[in-house]
Amino acid sequence: MLLTEFKNLKQLINYFSTEEICRDYLEEHRWGGIPTCPHCTSDKWYKLRNTKLYRCGTCKKKYSVTVGTVMESTKIPLSTWFMAIYIISAHKTGISSVQLGKDVGIKQSSAWFLLHRIREMFQEKTFTKLTGVIELDELYVGQKDRKNRTKKMKPGRGSVNKIPVLGILQRGGNIVYQVVPDTSADVLRPIISARVDKAAIINTDGHLSYTGLDKEFAAHEVVNHGAGEYVRGIYHTNGVEGAFGQLRRGIRGIYIKMSKKHLQRYCHEFSYRFNTREMKDADRFVSLLDRLPGRLRYQDLIK
Ligand SMILES: [Zn+2]
Repeated sequence: MLLTEFKNLKQLINYFSTEEICRDYLEEHRWGGIPTCPHCTSDKWYKLRNTKLYRCGTCKKKYSVTVGTVMESTKIPLSTWFMAIYIISAHKTGISSVQLGKDVGIKQSSAWFLLHRIREMFQEKTFTKLTGVIELDELYVGQKDRKNRTKKMKPGRGSVNKIPVLGILQRGGNIVYQVVPDTSADVLRPIISARVDKAAIINTDGHLSYTGLDKEFAAHEVVNHGAGEYVRGIYHTNGVEGAFGQLRRGIRGIYIKMSKKHLQRYCHEFSYRFNTREMKDADRFVSLLDRLPGRLRYQDLIK
């Protein structure tokens, strides 16, 4: 039986006391006891003696449990990975590579790499459309990197030096952040159509790119921030603005510079954090392991 609840970091560290225990845990979690070849999905296997490797009985290739995951060919011990995944998922605001390196006892450069690998796990691989009451808004994230300052972004409603992010919040539910080149209707509308159910009631401010959403969705309510109106009954965008506050603080407080290239990955991290806000830290650890890319389970294959 897998331990699936860790009350705190200390318990996690005690539990994963050796690399063998970590590997057994991962094998059980990923394969449910039946090693499955990542090359050809065969479940015929031989264990190679005195190694962590299996040989596929069908295609004859060798593999270990980390092949096809973010941990593939890592030199960092699995126990350190597990600690890092726990710490990152437990942090409310995100953590810098400098701090993570200190916490788990590795170089900052290794921690930086680890952080980016783990962020891959935050990305939703599948999604269902958001529905119910939807709040839409845009956030402009400043680029602190001087080189990027000279590259002018197409003007949206904010500054030319900032990167716009579209936020789509299902009130009481999940948020989606999407980095966009600009905030024109041509850019925003296809994203909104793809992510929001037609039966939704849309709440926005008076940004012109949202004009006409009432034709596509059940309703579109506009609160006119320009005219000093922020709430009209149940119509407002306070939820998405609150989530943006968390994203902005996280980026500002933890990360030294923000490039456009990495911003979407940070957005995945923060939307994951927002969307699992009701979850206990320990549950987040296990739910992140569920997202190991390339996760392959025999049960899923034979469905
Ligand atoms: Zn194979």
